[in-house]
Amino acid sequence: MILLILDYDNTLGDTYGPYGEGNIFRTKTLSDVTKATEIYEKYRRWPDDILVYQKLIEELQIKNPEQFFINNWMPKQLFPDVIPFLKSLQMRKDITTVVLTAGDEIFHSMKVKISGVTDLVHQVVVTRIRDKSGMIQRLHAHYQPEHTIVVDDRINMVWTDFDFPITIYEMDRAHKKEWPWIIHKLDESLISKI
Ligand SMILES: [Mg+2]
Repeated sequence: MILLILDYDNTLGDTYGPYGEGNIFRTKTLSDVTKATEIYEKYRRWPDDILVYQKLIEELQIKNPEQFFINNWMPKQLFPDVIPFLKSLQMRKDITTVVLTAGDEIFHSMKVKISGVTDLVHQVVVTRIRDKSGMIQRLHAHYQPEHTIVVDDRINMVWTDFDFPITIYEMDRAHKKEWPWIIHKLDESLISKI
């Protein structure tokens, strides 16, 4: 079995784009965009590089967050190749797909769910630890795959950090880099290459 571990922010979802939470928090909440931007910036990466979600929804007066983000088209932040790719993987019994995302548990679980990704993968793991290598070790121990594939736009690990077969791809959606281990989209060649 192959374990495929996918990051969410800027790998599956364009979180910096028009349907990204940054833009929604800044422009779709308070009538005063400057004030909303100040609040967003204040709680964006504090204190552990993770969004302070509860404070944000409180101060930006978001009453029903799930409905609010759906109404503001957050699900459209998904890159267009994501749903077709995940659906094609569902046909394959030899692949287990896990989304491993770093952030606030409540916010990230909701974001992955309303985008439609949760129902198409085996598991969604939200961690507050930016270095994902420990969680990758734990997922490997749990699923016991023959091979593990990681796709993330922030790679701070190398395959020699692990004592099991692993392929690590850096996702570069902006097409700024060209190397054999850098990919720009999701398709089945990711899996067929190993
Ligand atoms: Mg990311």
